Amino acid sequence: MNDKPFTYESWQARVVFGPGRVESVAAETKLLGAKKVYLVADPNAPGVDEVRRSLGARLAGHWGEIAQHVPIELVDRVWAAVEESGTDCIVCLGGGSATGLAKAIVKNYPVPLVAVPTTYAGSEMTTVYGLTDGDRKVTSRDPRVRPTTVVYDPELTTGLPLAVTGPSAFNSLAHCVGALAAPNANPVTSALALEAVRRIHDSLPAVMAEPANIPGRSGLQFGAFLAGTALASTGTGLHHRICHALGGMLNLPHADTHSVVLPHVVALNAAALPEEMARLAEALGVPGGDPAARLWDLAAANGVATDLAALGVRQEHLHAVTERVDVQPNPWAVRPEDIEAMLTRALVGERPTHSTEHDRVSQHG
Ligand code: NAD
Repeated sequence: MNDKPFTYESWQARVVFGPGRVESVAAETKLLGAKKVYLVADPNAPGVDEVRRSLGARLAGHWGEIAQHVPIELVDRVWAAVEESGTDCIVCLGGGSATGLAKAIVKNYPVPLVAVPTTYAGSEMTTVYGLTDGDRKVTSRDPRVRPTTVVYDPELTTGLPLAVTGPSAFNSLAHCVGALAAPNANPVTSALALEAVRRIHDSLPAVMAEPANIPGRSGLQFGAFLAGTALASTGTGLHHRICHALGGMLNLPHADTHSVVLPHVVALNAAALPEEMARLAEALGVPGGDPAARLWDLAAANGVATDLAALGVRQEHLHAVTERVDVQPNPWAVRPEDIEAMLTRALVGERPTHSTEHDRVSQHG
């Protein structure tokens, strides 16, 4: 029994989960009283036709242009179309980019948002939204952007390319690590995060071996849901700040940066978080082991990127990226040069281990 005092803040949403549940999207908008529904949908994601058909005459408009990292100029154009349609509800269907675009709209156009996620980004559960102006991505929180209803249908993810599936699962794992390490972590968010790690860890190899494996896809999506829920109540840390600096500056695929950077940040911070890292190792199936090395091995074994060079990053980018990373808050007094050195190791795909990072950090106190 936990005896430490804690504060847990939850963000309510109605969650509809299970294979075939995309069929209930139109009914969910009706429950919200919607008469004119605007659909923001990623053209690569399945389910668009079903949603359009089931909305019938209540479909007020359909936006199909999605861009990574939510550029402000795109938000302005969607905003104009949504406003002109006079919609009273938005449905977003797609990965974190589609969800992020819809979140940016409902922040200032306050109608209920129904999210139908088709990746494992987890954005649908959070009050976090990002906007990119030029090469600079700014992430903020606002309760108005949180979807009212989330419909998870694992069948929509069976065609998610494996090159997206693996990194996206690591995006979810990064949320778990962030939630575990957050200063406001509590027994509820840690339980959610650790169960999410178990689900993702157990499901990823099955899906990579057989992409249409529904129990595996359900496990990844359930993990993403729990991870997003934990993240929503805690927040992100150094790892996400590094990924956002990399992604925003070099226009990298968001999820891929997670798979490469996560094991290195876990190694960098492990000595400062012994209890949390022991629980993480257990959830990753290596009780008493090294969670950083285990994460790297999980990526490598499943064909997920382990080096930044493969994403197009070059050594000469790293200093400028590091300059954009706020090093604090962090569980210990990490310095910009530690981050740059860590990114140099991530660049070439070095396998990080807790002990090597600990030794490096100890050398400068
Ligand atoms: P994404 O939405 O850009 O999708 C990746 C690729 O997969 C795209 O080409 C897309 O067209 C395709 N795709 C998506 N679903 C598909 C499906 N079911 N079948 C086939 N193709 C499909 O990538 P993402 O990783 O989901 O989201 C990244 C964005 O989300 C970033 O901007 C990131 O910052 C944001 N994000 C936000 C939060 C938050 O809490 N606000 C959390 C995680 C990610």
